[in-house]
Amino acid sequence: MAAHVPNVESIVQGLRQHHPDATYELDWSTPEQMLVATTLAAQCTDERVNKVTQTLFVKYPSPKAFAEADFDELAEDLKPTGFFRQKAQAVQAICRALVERFGGKVPRTIDELTSIHGIARKTANVVLNCCFDLPTGIIVDTHVQRVAQRMGLSTNTTPEKIEADLMQQVPKDDWTFFGPAMVIHGRYTCTAKEPACARCPFLDQCPRKGVDGPRPQAAPAPPPPRKFQGPRKVVGEDGVARPITAGGRPSTTATTLTVDPWVATLAKPMDEPWFLELLDFVERERAEHEVFPPRDQVFSAYSLTPLAEVKVIILGQDPYHDVGQAHGLSFSVQPSVPIPPSLRNMYKELHGDLGIDAPAHGHLRRWAEQGVMLLNAVLTVRAHEPGSHAGHGWERLTDATIQAISRERDHVVFLLWGKHAQKKAKLIDRGKHTVLEANHPSPLSARQGFFGSRPFSGANAALERKGQAPIDWRP
Ligand code: SF4
Repeated sequence: MAAHVPNVESIVQGLRQHHPDATYELDWSTPEQMLVATTLAAQCTDERVNKVTQTLFVKYPSPKAFAEADFDELAEDLKPTGFFRQKAQAVQAICRALVERFGGKVPRTIDELTSIHGIARKTANVVLNCCFDLPTGIIVDTHVQRVAQRMGLSTNTTPEKIEADLMQQVPKDDWTFFGPAMVIHGRYTCTAKEPACARCPFLDQCPRKGVDGPRPQAAPAPPPPRKFQGPRKVVGEDGVARPITAGGRPSTTATTLTVDPWVATLAKPMDEPWFLELLDFVERERAEHEVFPPRDQVFSAYSLTPLAEVKVIILGQDPYHDVGQAHGLSFSVQPSVPIPPSLRNMYKELHGDLGIDAPAHGHLRRWAEQGVMLLNAVLTVRAHEPGSHAGHGWERLTDATIQAISRERDHVVFLLWGKHAQKKAKLIDRGKHTVLEANHPSPLSARQGFFGSRPFSGANAALERKGQAPIDWRP
């Protein structure tokens, strides 16, 4: 049977049945991030954008940070998304407008949002529909455009006119669901090249306009699994994103956000004035002095050890301050530089504890990738001036990091070496986690309680007691 008059109500119903959790497939934890991600998604896959934004949103945690970034460096960061110089320009212009005109936040009306140069209705609808659940219009991207035409919901060819047609037919209460659900339907079923009409739930009523070949026999089947698994969520009055429940309303508990969980967990501190002042301070220092580690390695501890994978944390104090050493992991140095004395002592203890021979390098990336977070209390330092960036705000961020691990994770082993690290014990819930304290491995103190403390086997024993795989401590 070929129906030619689309029944919009049953299409919405079918979409709700087949894509109950339809969500726009870009990662975000704040509306400002969604705005940047949507800008980057032009001529690029959402998967690639999500990969880039995992680290991008750590490096540039706010519109101000994007607006003030070095243009060439930002363009380089955006390279994998294509058209990177144009995108860097667009992102900076949009973020500048957010900072200068809207206090660094996405405004909540479509008129205000589209008044920013470079933001068209589609992008504005993505942000306002998806982040705030505001029915400002219906998202019309290439998928929605194609599906609406094939289903006979519009004969127009421009996004604006197609959106107007859809807004006339689809009840307003359904707009914020309809757009993302049509995108999903277009991406996984009604695809551009080979629409899977045979398994499409709308086959009976779809006129299949512009689709070649005879109408197939209906054999309805679920769509293939989606590549993006993030929950549908919405930002509440308090500015916190929460998942939308099956009933369509936000739940009352904050979500574990799908953007890099570090960003989600630390979003609040990173949005506060002191953090932006800290970034300003580091940039001023970089303008006048040599600063370690290089910009793109400041957050290596976070990017190499995602929050969900932290099993052990080794707290350090300050990055190494000599040329070529620091790369963002405490105690670790770049592979080509001599092994510093503290790390040499750690290797001695590793041999005494587990019989593991010291390697010829001091690069601890292998530990970090297994879930050993190597975090310094202070993340930057001026060359040859130890402690020069202490007291400027890094400690607030890294304290918030320790608290986040303590709060969000279970059964993490904290290795606290020396008095400085041991002061952080008060941030840790000892009822949930294991804290192993010892003297610092520096040559000044290693013989007074670091050697013989057997931290590596101790950490593995604690992990195994909780049913977790031990760390392979070979560096
Ligand atoms: S897959 Fe086929 S039947 Fe389904 S909406 Fe697209 S064109 Fe219509």
